[in-house]
Amino acid sequence: MRSRVTASRVSLARHCLAPWTSHIPWAKTASTQATVGTAFHKWPEIVIAAGGHAPLNPSAYVEQHPDITEDLRPQVLRLILAWEIHWRACRSLVGWSAEVAYAYDPQTGEARELGAGLQRDYSGAKAGEMTMTMDARNMSDGALIIDWKTGKQANADRAKDHGQGKTLALAIARAHGLDAVAFEIVHVATTGITVDRALYDAFELDDHADELRDIDCRVRAGQQDPNPGTHCHTLWCPIVASCPAAAPNPWDIRRDTLEILRTSGPLSVRHIASTISIREEQLSPVLADLVANHEVGIEKGIVRRVRS
Ligand code: SF4
Repeated sequence: MRSRVTASRVSLARHCLAPWTSHIPWAKTASTQATVGTAFHKWPEIVIAAGGHAPLNPSAYVEQHPDITEDLRPQVLRLILAWEIHWRACRSLVGWSAEVAYAYDPQTGEARELGAGLQRDYSGAKAGEMTMTMDARNMSDGALIIDWKTGKQANADRAKDHGQGKTLALAIARAHGLDAVAFEIVHVATTGITVDRALYDAFELDDHADELRDIDCRVRAGQQDPNPGTHCHTLWCPIVASCPAAAPNPWDIRRDTLEILRTSGPLSVRHIASTISIREEQLSPVLADLVANHEVGIEKGIVRRVRS
């Protein structure tokens, strides 16, 4: 059976529909970061389900977690402690539900709640429905959805026009008759928390409903051409390892670029691109990311390393 487009992959579907329409099987990857992220996400779920007071402390949770090996325990524990400080300081304990699943029909625009704590079991969804799970939801004063992000690329996500965020917001709006929904991406790192918030209004939600209907129609129509780009890796395409059209990994380009600048000093964009055998347009988004992070500076087409 062809996979459905889930909310968590709407951002990828905006760029490329080949993962849903080609016959290449999806890879089942289990990275260390995914294991850490999954173990972390379970903690807020436990806390919220218990009304704010978990039945065990974070250290005991980490030590008892069956998937967390000893070397990963400090990292998971630091993430949990960073979350605990932020949550206790900033949030009321009232009105929260964790891991709430919804189904949304992109053709009819109808949505419904499937339940909480389903552990991503979407067997209750009907054919044609998109499925999704909200990390946390609060309905006590309008609707607020929170998505916790961990991992090295977490800060690449922005709440404004976020594919997953808008889909979650649309589902909750349609299911409960709301005109506007707030969405927060909470980046959880061992060094602390950053929050990015957006409020999607009725106009944006209607627009997104049109977008999802269009995506759904194109998937139903069958075979769609691959559209390679940095999203192949940054949005975790499930067939990137087998797709013949996959773009080069931007994180490899990033590492190679910094290494070249470290050993050779300021160079032109063209020179860096030719040295690592990629096209200039493939290097551009990586350079933009490096500039945004103050790792390189660019002036008149010459790239130099700013921070080592
Ligand atoms: S690797 Fe890139 S081009 Fe290929 S299917 Fe995935 S997103 Fe599309």
